[in-house]
Amino acid sequence: MTQFDALCANDPELSELRTAIREFLAADRDEHGWEPAIDSWLARWDADFSARLAEAGFVGLTIPTEYGGRGLGHLHRYVVTEELLAHGAPVAAHWFSDRQFAPSLLSYGSDEQRREFLPVIAAGKLHAAIGMSEHDAGSDLAAVKTRASQVDGGWSLSGTKVWTSGAHLAHRIVVLARTSPLDPEHRHAGFSQFFVKLDSPGITIDPIVQMGGEHHFNEVTFDDVFVPDADVLGSIGDGWRQVTSELGFERSGPERILSTVTLIVAAIRALPDDADDGTAAAVGELFARMISLRQLSISVARTLASGEDAATRAALVKDLGTRFEQDSVELAADLLDRLDRQAPEAARLAELLATARLHSPLFTLRGGTNEVLRGVVARGMGVR
Ligand SMILES: Cc1cc2nc3c(=O)[nH]c(=O)nc-3n(C[C@H](O)[C@H](O)[C@H](O)COP(=O)(O)OP(=O)(O)OC[C@H]3O[C@@H](n4cnc5c(N)ncnc54)[C@H](O)[C@@H]3O)c2cc1C
Repeated sequence: MTQFDALCANDPELSELRTAIREFLAADRDEHGWEPAIDSWLARWDADFSARLAEAGFVGLTIPTEYGGRGLGHLHRYVVTEELLAHGAPVAAHWFSDRQFAPSLLSYGSDEQRREFLPVIAAGKLHAAIGMSEHDAGSDLAAVKTRASQVDGGWSLSGTKVWTSGAHLAHRIVVLARTSPLDPEHRHAGFSQFFVKLDSPGITIDPIVQMGGEHHFNEVTFDDVFVPDADVLGSIGDGWRQVTSELGFERSGPERILSTVTLIVAAIRALPDDADDGTAAAVGELFARMISLRQLSISVARTLASGEDAATRAALVKDLGTRFEQDSVELAADLLDRLDRQAPEAARLAELLATARLHSPLFTLRGGTNEVLRGVVARGMGVR
């Protein structure tokens, strides 16, 4: 295998997997009629699709076979993820469970938790939300105020989480809460994680509707919610270390580059044969950036697959990748201005662009803002 093949994840076994997922997606789309979407990993929730995908063996790839998964590596998962994004498939329902909670359970979960949850995640049927951010604790996550106090047989949880994607549809939420009072000298100490049932008494889920009318965010309030000891994730007091390793999985995937790939493909399709050189060059340059970013992202996945730390590089890819996503929206808009709107390709481009414009500001915020990630990169390079 050449170095170029390695950077493209073209190893023979990965190529086979890529062909298999492509065939599954083509057949599933023919049968069920879903349309490729922008930002489908966050905005397209389809529990039946997630279950069919899992049934075909494309969820839980890195979960060991003893827990119902396929026991494959990060790169296998990368290839499948990449194809799901490139096809704009409706994957939001199982995304967070498969991406970050399965690895967390494998690293920190008890054996009972692994046996209970991992097979359901691998079946695409455990839908989970991320309960980290609060009104005054986003970039500065150590300012989280949600508290859990020990009670008979478990914990009592109180506080409010915000920007919680999919909480109104999910089964469980992983909540980061304080279990010891704040020590200003050690702000990151005293946190713990809880895997909370979203239908528990005392939970209120209020929608936060986006300006385009979409509902995927929520504000989730916990009022004295009882969480049994069995649903503590990992060790009490170790929440900060656990959450930072979870963020590594959250930030490093191809969804930080490919949220607009359906738009880019539509732009290429809409490009007329007689496009002026400047327009063709702009589309070509964007595509070339995508290939380079993809190779950078695959090199991060290879690093993770070999068990090494890739936090700084993952932050760099997310910064470059999400800015690329935003640039792709601008380019598609410029291109559309020059097209005959009656042509079917232009109509498709306009339809995708309408959603992409509304989602574009979110790309550089979610999963940690770019400004904050640049701080991570600077520290990783020893310059801060
Ligand atoms: C689409 C989307 C989905 C999300 N889903 C979830 C979810 O499911 N669960 C969840 O818990 N959270 C979720 N979030 C929240 C997300 O993680 C936060 O929005 C993000 O961490 C930023 O926090 P904040 O919004 O409080 O902004 P703030 O932290 O208040 O930041 C405001 C501005 O100040 C800048 N800033 C802050 N600190 C620094 C610094 N030290 N140096 C330089 N600049 C700085 C930021 O870059 C930003 O521009 C989601 C967000 C989005 C956009």
